[in-house]
Amino acid sequence: MRLCRYDDDKLGLVDNGKVRDVSAALAVIPPARYPFPHGDQLIANLDAVKAAIAGLADDGARKALREVKLLSPVANPGKLVAAPVNYKAHVEEAAADVATFTANHILKIHEAGFFLKGTSSLIGVGQPIEIIHPARRTDHEIELAVIIGKPGRRIAAKDALSHVAGYAIGLDITIRGPEERSLRKSLDTYSVLGPWIVTADEVGDPAGLDLALDVDGQSRQRANTRDLIIDVPGLIEFASSYYTLHPGDVLYTGTPEGVGPIRPGERVTASITRVGDIQVDVVAG
Ligand code: MN
Repeated sequence: MRLCRYDDDKLGLVDNGKVRDVSAALAVIPPARYPFPHGDQLIANLDAVKAAIAGLADDGARKALREVKLLSPVANPGKLVAAPVNYKAHVEEAAADVATFTANHILKIHEAGFFLKGTSSLIGVGQPIEIIHPARRTDHEIELAVIIGKPGRRIAAKDALSHVAGYAIGLDITIRGPEERSLRKSLDTYSVLGPWIVTADEVGDPAGLDLALDVDGQSRQRANTRDLIIDVPGLIEFASSYYTLHPGDVLYTGTPEGVGPIRPGERVTASITRVGDIQVDVVAG
């Protein structure tokens, strides 16, 4: 099942290039009172929402995907957990360019651990990336994004995939420079998620997915998740050994080689096998 959030916060079921409005299924989410529970309440109640969608009457109305504005499929993540360099070829790329990448960047993921991106940086693919500091180098990073469905801490790798609600394409947009990653990667619009969430059952094993990213039609990043230094179950085990993962937390799994700058006026296109493809415009902020 491919679920999107679109236009004025509608819930959409995506099929064959079209979107069906299934917002009525959101009624099964229990009303929350302050203090609100941790996590995104759509993702926390995803099984009930999916059952409600199956029970909705279908009047046949659809909108073409190109006619809707796609928002982040997760509206209210508690945290955006991100893996630093997690592909061997990207470690080598960073180590070879000391002018752009700091020493901290070249640490292996086992040593560097994770960083967090501000949730206020999150956008969907129908919204542009805004270059707020045009004098700084801003790079694209395509990553498989994992959306946590079931809460847990100290999750064993062998159980990890049962905690996954689904997957999306993530762009971890980044200013290069000496500041902490949490600053350089948390500018407004610098965390892209979309085009929708593909439920975990449709993706199956997240190892072996092709990733591709182009800028204005020029090939930049080509990789496969089989080349992750720490794979998806391992990342969930690692992250949850430090903090509880809540429904709707998004795990950016790290980018492969081929990162490079983006500028206002350019268009980023990207795809991941069995997840989808996206187009995102870059504009002056
Ligand atoms: Mn990254």
